Amino acid sequence: MRLPHVLLGLLLLCICLHDAATAATDTVSPGNGLAGGGRLVSNNSKFALGFFKTDSKSPNTYLGIWFNKVTKRTPLWSANGDSPVVDPASPELAIASDGNLVILDQATRSVIWSTSTHANVTTANGTVAVLLDDGNLVLRSASNASDVFWQSFDYPTDTLFAGAKIGWSKLTGLNRRLVSRKNLVDQAPGLYSLELDHNGVGHLLWNSTVEYWSSGDWNGHYFGLAPEMIGAVMPSFKFVNTEEEAYFVYTLHNDTAIVHTAIDVFGQGLVGIWLDSLQDWLINYRQPVFRCDVYATCGPFTICNDTAHGDQICSCMKGFSVRSPKEWELGDQKNGCMRNTPLECESDRNQTGLTDKFYSMQSVRLPDAKQVQAATSEDDCSQVCLRDCSCTAYSYWNGICSVWHDKLYNVKQELGAASDGNGGTFYIRLSAKELTSVAMKKSAITIGVTIGFAVGASTATLILTVILGLMIWRRKGKCFTRTLENGQGGIGIIAFRYVDLQRATKNFSEKLGGGSFGSVFKGNLSNSVTLAVKRLDGAHQGEKQFRAEVSSVGIIQHINLVKLIGFCCEGDQRLLVYEYMPNHSLDVHLFKADDTVLDWNLRYQIAIGVARGLAYLHTSCRDCIIHCDIKPENILLDASYVPKIADFGMAKVLGREFSHAMTTMRGTIGYLAPEWIGGTVVTSKVDVYSYGMVLFEIISGRRNSSPELFQDGDYSAFFPMQAARKLLSGEIGSLLDPNLHGDVNIEEVERVCKVACWCIQENELARPTMAEVVQVLEAFSSEDGRAALANQRSPLRQKFDVATVQVGEARRAAAGLVQGTS
Ligand code: ADP
Ligand code: MG
Repeated sequence: MRLPHVLLGLLLLCICLHDAATAATDTVSPGNGLAGGGRLVSNNSKFALGFFKTDSKSPNTYLGIWFNKVTKRTPLWSANGDSPVVDPASPELAIASDGNLVILDQATRSVIWSTSTHANVTTANGTVAVLLDDGNLVLRSASNASDVFWQSFDYPTDTLFAGAKIGWSKLTGLNRRLVSRKNLVDQAPGLYSLELDHNGVGHLLWNSTVEYWSSGDWNGHYFGLAPEMIGAVMPSFKFVNTEEEAYFVYTLHNDTAIVHTAIDVFGQGLVGIWLDSLQDWLINYRQPVFRCDVYATCGPFTICNDTAHGDQICSCMKGFSVRSPKEWELGDQKNGCMRNTPLECESDRNQTGLTDKFYSMQSVRLPDAKQVQAATSEDDCSQVCLRDCSCTAYSYWNGICSVWHDKLYNVKQELGAASDGNGGTFYIRLSAKELTSVAMKKSAITIGVTIGFAVGASTATLILTVILGLMIWRRKGKCFTRTLENGQGGIGIIAFRYVDLQRATKNFSEKLGGGSFGSVFKGNLSNSVTLAVKRLDGAHQGEKQFRAEVSSVGIIQHINLVKLIGFCCEGDQRLLVYEYMPNHSLDVHLFKADDTVLDWNLRYQIAIGVARGLAYLHTSCRDCIIHCDIKPENILLDASYVPKIADFGMAKVLGREFSHAMTTMRGTIGYLAPEWIGGTVVTSKVDVYSYGMVLFEIISGRRNSSPELFQDGDYSAFFPMQAARKLLSGEIGSLLDPNLHGDVNIEEVERVCKVACWCIQENELARPTMAEVVQVLEAFSSEDGRAALANQRSPLRQKFDVATVQVGEARRAAAGLVQGTS
C-alpha cells in the first residue's frame, strides 16, 4: 500500500493515527520490526512511536515518540535527532543480532542509529523493545520484563515525561537533561538546556555555559523562584536526593491528562496542557516569560523585541543582514546577523584612508558590558573603542564608558525609553562605507516606533499590553479562534470563542459570584479543567475592566495571583476566563458563620500568601502593578486554601520608573487609603493600607466597617482602634474571632496585629512595603528570621517597633472611613 507523496506528507502532518488496518502493538521483537508508517502504541493508547517527518518538504525522517491522540504533532522524544534518515532511504526499526535496538536503512542494511548498550545484551535470551504506558521505550530481555538494558527515559530530548527523572545518577555520572531542538524542523540538539545541579537547583543554560534562568532552591513543595509551578492544572513535583542519585520527577493528578513539560526551540521552559475542546495546547507556564530574556535567542548583532510577533521578534542591527536566511525563516534565529561590509580596521591594507564610524541606536536595553575607567568623556570612550579592532560598540552615560567586544548579544528593543535620557543610547561600529548614505552619530535615529503613552510607560511588558489591547480592539466584532501565541513564544493566554464559553458554562447557568462590574460563572472545558468565566456588563466600564485585567494579571504568573487562562472578545461580549477556585473567596469564610471556619494556622498562611502576591505585583514583576481593590471578596482560595488575589479590574500598571498613577476610579470603602479618598494619585501604598485592613478582619472575623460600630463620632469600637489599644495593653486575645475558640498562636496574632497597624498608618511613607511585610511575617516561621527581628538595631525592627503604637492613626482611619462612606 504505497501512498502518493503529498498524501503521505499530509498523513504525517496531521497524524491520522487511527490506522484500522494494523492492530497496534507496543512491541518490536526479533523478526518483527517497524517500517514506513507503522507504529507502536502503548498499551493505554496514550503514546505512539514511529518514524516521522517534521515537514513534508524536508528529506529527514526521525524515529520518535508523541502523544497518540494529540492532533498537533508534538515530538516528545527522538532517537536520531542528529542522525536523521535522509530520503530516499527508508528506515526500519529492528532488533539486531547483537540484541540492540537499531534503525536500519532498508536498502543497504546499514545501521543509522543503535541503542549500543555494551551490557551483555547478547547473553540475555533475546531482547524486545516495548513502548510502556508512561511513554518510556525500553529494551529488555524477552523473557524477563525487569531485565532492562536501555531506556529512552535515560536519554531525554526536549521533553520531561511524567514519571521520568531529570538529574544525576551519582553512581554512573549519567546526567539526564533536556536539550532544546535546533528549530521546528531540524530535530538536532539546539543550544539551550535545562539541567539540575547537584543541589537540585534547575538551570536554563545557553551553550551549556551561560545561565539565563534558575529555579531557586527546592523547599519541599516547589522551587523558590518558581512557585507558580504548583498551580491547579499543574502536575505535582518531587525532588529526590539520595547517596545514589539526585533527580526531579513529576506525576500527574490524572493519568489521562496530556501535559507537555519541555524546553522549546527558543530556549523557554514550558508546561502545556492539551485541551481536547480546543484541539490545541494551552501553555500554562513559561520561563523566562519573555523570549528576549532568553540568552542570545536572536543571535549576535540583532535587536530583540518582545512586543513583536512570531518571527518578527528578532531583527538585524543597522549594517547587518541575516546570516542563515533559511533557518531564520523557520524561527531559528540563533545564528543572528553578519556585517554587510567588513570593518575598515580589519582590511590588511587600509588604502581608503577611511576609519570606522559609529551608528547611534536609541531605545534599546544594553547587555552587560565591560567598563573602561580611563575614559572620562564620550570622545575618549569612542577613541578607546576605535583603537581596538575587536571593539564593536560603546556607550557613554553618567560618566561611565562601556565597551563591547566581538559578537554583540542580547540587545533588546525598549520602546519609549526616551525617559531614560541617554541611558539607552549606544553606538555600534560600522565601516565608514556602510554609513556613507545614512545620518551619522548624534543624528539620534530611533529604531522602531515609539509609542507615546499617557502614563509614559517604558518597558516591554506595557507595550505588550498595549499591543494586546490594540489587537483586541481591532478584532472587535470578529472572533479569535486560537491562542495568541500558538504554543511557541508569546504570552500564553487563550482567545476563546463565545460559543465555546457559552457551552462550557452551560449558557451561564451556574453563578459563582458577582461584583459591580459583572458576574462570574462556573464552567467546564473538558472533564479535567474547571473554569471561572467572568462576564463583564455595561459596555463602557466593562471595556475598561476588561483591559485592566488582561493587561495586568494576563501577563504575569505567581502562585498567589489567580491565573487568567484566557478571554473572549466578540462583538460587545467581554469575558475573562480564570482557573477555578473551589474554596470561594475569603469573605465567605470570615464573615458567614455557617461556612467552614478557617483555623488560625490557615489564616496566618493566607496572610503571608496575600502579602507575597502583592509584593510580587509591586516589585518583582517587570512593572509595578497596583491592585487598587484588595479586600476579602477579591482573595480567592484554591483547593488547598492557598490564597489567590483576584479581580484586577481596577489594577494600574506602571512602568518601572513610575511610582504612582492617576486614577478616576476608587477602590472599596473600608479598605481605601486616606490619601486616595481625597486625591487621584495612587501608589502601591494604597494596597498596603487595604491589606492592613484585611489583616484586622482575619483576626476578628468581622468587618472593620460594620456601620453599627460607629455612633456619633465615637470610633472606639472600630476594630483597628481597639487593636491598637489592646496591643499596648497586651490583651490582644480578647480581639479574636470567637469562632477560633482561642485556639491560636498568640505570638503570631500579635505580629499580625502589629503589621496591620503598621500598614494602615495615615502617612503612606510610614507604611511598610509589601516586601517588608512578607519579611516580618515569614520571620516568625524560622529561627533565623526571629533572630534577625530580635536585633533591635536592624532597620526592619526599628521601623516595625515604631509602627506598633499608632492608636491615633487608627482613630483617624476610622474617621476617614466614616467620611468616605458619607
Ligand atoms: P468583580 O469585579 O465583579 O468583583 P471578581 O473577579 O471579584 O469580580 O469576582 C466576583 C466573585 O466571583 C468573587 O468574589 C468570587 O466569589 C467569584 N469568583 C471570581 N473568580 C473566581 C474563580 N476564579 N473561581 C471561583 N470563584 C470566583
Ligand atoms: Mg471583586
